[in-house]
Order: sequence, then C-alpha cells, then structure tokens
Amino acid sequence: MDLKNYIADVPDFPEKGIVFRDISPLMADGEAYRFATSEIVKYAQDKGVEMIVGPEARGFIVGCPVAYEMGIGFAPARKKGKLPRETIEVTYGLEYGKDTLQIHQDSIKPGQKVLVCDDLLATGGTIAATIELIEKLGGIVVGTAFLVELKDLNGREKIKGYDILALMEY
Ligand code: AMP
Repeated sequence: MDLKNYIADVPDFPEKGIVFRDISPLMADGEAYRFATSEIVKYAQDKGVEMIVGPEARGFIVGCPVAYEMGIGFAPARKKGKLPRETIEVTYGLEYGKDTLQIHQDSIKPGQKVLVCDDLLATGGTIAATIELIEKLGGIVVGTAFLVELKDLNGREKIKGYDILALMEY
C-alpha cells in the first residue's frame, strides 16, 4: 500500500515556506491506518518492545494503536502542566524559544524496552527530548517509529545511534 496517497501536502502552513504533511487522511481511512499500525507492530515485535511512549499529541495517534495491538502499555509525554501526578521533565530548544515535555515518574520501569512513536521526524528535537525522559527513568529505547521523515531537516543526526523506522520519506 502506498501510504503517501493518504498524506495531504499543505503548502505554507502554519507559515510561509513550510509544507505541512497532514496525516489525517491516513487516520481517516481504516485500511491505511491499520496497515501503518501493523508495520510498526512488526518492527516493535522484532525488537521485543514492552512499552510505548509518544509525545503529545500526534504521538498518541501513532503509538496507542500499536500498544493496543501488542497488548502492552502506552505512556504519554506531555507539554508542561498537563499531567496530574509526579513528573520529570526535559526542556529543549525550538527554532524560536524553548519547550518543556513531562512524563509521569512511574510510567516506565527501569530496564523496560521502550519504543518511541510520533507522526513525523522533522528536526528531531521532540523525539530527542522524549528519549531523554525515558532514559532518566531507566528505560531502554530500543527503537523509534514515525509515519513520516523529513530528510532535509536531518532529525536522524539528533538521535544518532537509535534505530529508526520511517514508513514514508520526503
Ligand atoms: P521536530 O521536533 O522538529 O522533529 O518536530 C516534531 C513535530 O512537529 C512532529 O511530531 C510533527 O507533529 C510536527 N511537524 C514538524 N514539521 C512538520 C511538517 N512539515 N508537517 C507536519 N508536522 C510537522
């Protein structure tokens, strides 16, 4: 199945010069969504994944069905102030300014094999911060999985040494 048929390319969103790769047509098509999920499930099974983590908000869309299908847990990484219990946090740089991601302190067990899922790998800042959170809790990041990778932005460099599955490349 050619998943690129289910990505809507939106020029100049959210600002001029950016081509937004919208995954919502993929999610809206049951067959395409299930196909993408099953590809990530196969990858995760090969790696013996025990827990999935995804950053807010599209990481939930990709990661949760994988966790459900495998019968394992999912832990959300969220923007500061959203999680109600004790958290740890990582602050990371954006193109302009900074952002902070948090995760519940008890969401990963030390030694647990974790897969990080998100919709899209751009500069890699979000995924690097998510990996840092997992490792602070003693989790072992055995892989990362994305629907889309934007090659030109070199996100791979930022997560060098970690295995990457990207179902589509632009
Ligand atoms: P980054 O931290 O730079 O790797 O960007 C990560 C997040 O920004 C991704 O999870 C996407 O949700 C979003 N994002 C960045 N660039 C794009 C794009 N061109 N189209 C759609 N989403 C994007």
